[in-house]
Amino acid sequence: METITYEYGGGLYVNLTNRCDCACIFCLRQNGNRGSIYADDLWLDHEPSRQEALEDLLRRDLPSYEELVFCGFGEPTFRMEDILWLTDELKKTVPGLPPVRINTNGHGCLISGRDVVPELAGRIDRLSISLNGATEETYLARTCPRDGAKAWQAMLDFTRSAAAAGIEVTMTAVDRGMEPEELAACETLAASLGARFRVRHYIDS
Ligand code: SF4
Repeated sequence: METITYEYGGGLYVNLTNRCDCACIFCLRQNGNRGSIYADDLWLDHEPSRQEALEDLLRRDLPSYEELVFCGFGEPTFRMEDILWLTDELKKTVPGLPPVRINTNGHGCLISGRDVVPELAGRIDRLSISLNGATEETYLARTCPRDGAKAWQAMLDFTRSAAAAGIEVTMTAVDRGMEPEELAACETLAASLGARFRVRHYIDS
């Protein structure tokens, strides 16, 4: 049984895709895991349609969660159109819907081939964007994006633009292999882009 939605902490997480444009050295998928501490089986043998995802979401008591989080075992912005459609449908039909967040690597504009920030503004309340390196060199070494240096720049531009559009943006870094000095530099970079910063602890299962 594939997992489209699952609970973690006080939030409800939505898993729409395995696809990703990165190959992060710390990614759970790198060592063949199909799940994580969050849920046993997050690998999707087929991506749910937007309708399947909506039906799954509507079976939940959505107002009881603190947040609705599009994440995925891959990069959720590969399903950008569907995330926006789902958010619109839920906001129309569910009174008391909690804030909507996307956990992303920040490559949504690159992946979509257009500036998506105007479409997110007013719909998506929060973004968590993976930083994972205070410089282009360290970022590329850790995340190995298929588009190389363009991905670093796209992530920075997306963050700055989303924060300027009024979305609450938090950048995050996994603490594996990062010295305190580099984490501090990440925090400074995040602040310069208008974002908050949070360190995430590495999870190896
Ligand atoms: S961006 Fe996320 S899903 Fe993609 S490889 Fe990195 S950690 Fe894994």
